[in-house]
Amino acid sequence: MKRRSVKGQKYEADYWAQMNFVHERSGYRCEVMRHGGRCRNQSQAYPHHRKLRSQGGSNSLDNLLDVCARCHDEIHREMPRSLAVARGLIVPRDTPEFPYHPEEIDD
Ligand SMILES: [Zn+2]
Ligand SMILES: [Zn+2]
Repeated sequence: MKRRSVKGQKYEADYWAQMNFVHERSGYRCEVMRHGGRCRNQSQAYPHHRKLRSQGGSNSLDNLLDVCARCHDEIHREMPRSLAVARGLIVPRDTPEFPYHPEEIDD
């Protein structure tokens, strides 16, 4: 996948546009998988970057995930990073972006 600059207006405009597609995809419901089903709490306005911007993550639909406040907090603060990576919620810098496959994740 072609790398995008993480700075500047182009990136931001792209993010705003992609955000709408993510919300359409999710119906404004959290897409995080937990206990065999999607969380489905109301999602936050800003989709989560699975591969963080600071790690070179893009605004591709594969990289963006609608999340609720609770799940987002867990991903970034409470969940051990290794678990977040194992669940596909965090994509490390050196790993190519890939689609989120929550049905394959077993709590
Ligand atoms: Zn996030
Ligand atoms: Zn959630």
